[in-house]
Amino acid sequence: MLVVMYKNATEEQIERVLEIVEELGYKPIPNPGASRMVINITGDVDLLDSSRIEGLGGVMKVIRVTKPYRLADIEVKPDPTVIEVGDVEIGGSRRVIIAGPCSVESLDQIVEAALAVKECGGDILRGGAFKPRTSPYSFQGLGGEGLKHLKEARRRSGLPIITEAVDIESFELVEATADIVQIGARNMQNYSLLKRAGRSPKPVMLKRGISATLNELLAAAEYIMSEGNQEVILCERGIRTQNNHVRFTLDLASIPVLRGLTHLPLIIDPSHAAGKRDIVIPLARAGLAVGADGLIIEVHPRPDEALVDGAQSLTIEMFRSFMDSINEDQLLTDARSK
Ligand code: PEP
Ligand code: MN
Repeated sequence: MLVVMYKNATEEQIERVLEIVEELGYKPIPNPGASRMVINITGDVDLLDSSRIEGLGGVMKVIRVTKPYRLADIEVKPDPTVIEVGDVEIGGSRRVIIAGPCSVESLDQIVEAALAVKECGGDILRGGAFKPRTSPYSFQGLGGEGLKHLKEARRRSGLPIITEAVDIESFELVEATADIVQIGARNMQNYSLLKRAGRSPKPVMLKRGISATLNELLAAAEYIMSEGNQEVILCERGIRTQNNHVRFTLDLASIPVLRGLTHLPLIIDPSHAAGKRDIVIPLARAGLAVGADGLIIEVHPRPDEALVDGAQSLTIEMFRSFMDSINEDQLLTDARSK
């Protein structure tokens, strides 16, 4: 950590900073520059509350050079994390395709979707039983009943299930059914929920918040990992920018950049970024091209009847033709890019 002093900071002010740093149990190393003093604080500064120093006289700013994440850091663990869910490996040598409706709407709907996803070659079924909606008056999901329908869809199709936990209260219920627990974009910085997910025996897919930096995404993953759960999958689902021609701007560059920062598997959600079904498939292809470990795509047997996100849901025919169009080579990850 670096403490940058003002140009006109007095000797006394500098001495005071050195004293306080030592009192806090760290070793300060003063570096007098041509115009100002910079104090380097060495040691394990992760737990050092920088506001203690920021408030001292003569201090211009405190710069943290260490990262807010450790367990997620590729420097700490250079080997890619591979997560096994049933027979499916996420982050391994083959990309995974997760598909299904935004929300579970009835037993028939989710079973029909599951059988179609399976038949088209999908690996994992998605479907929200608890839905985080922008308006409190919108359909909030079938809750516990939706989870029962998901279990039946898993039994009928053999596909593992990913479904979202929206709060701590419903977490236990969700993790009992889910093969992967999804934490949605709106909850990316819900730290108590992240900690609860960290105590879960189930893998967690963490979606990037709509205005989150990659540093914040990795720090959020660290909340889960620091509680013990190392099975975290990161999902880029689009962020808010000045663009209003799509629902969110899919940050494709986040994949190669994250690849250099973390060993965690990376998934692209083209559906929530696109907002409209015609745009989903080009973005899905782009997601594969930039090296994601998989895709999560919304597919509905009858999108016109969907209670949530119908406009961006692919029909089964569209999903089938997409799956038919990608060849085995495109599904293999390039080991060199990992
Ligand atoms: C979803 O996957 O249906 C969802 C609500 O996604 P997000 O949290 O990315 O908005
Ligand atoms: Mn959705």
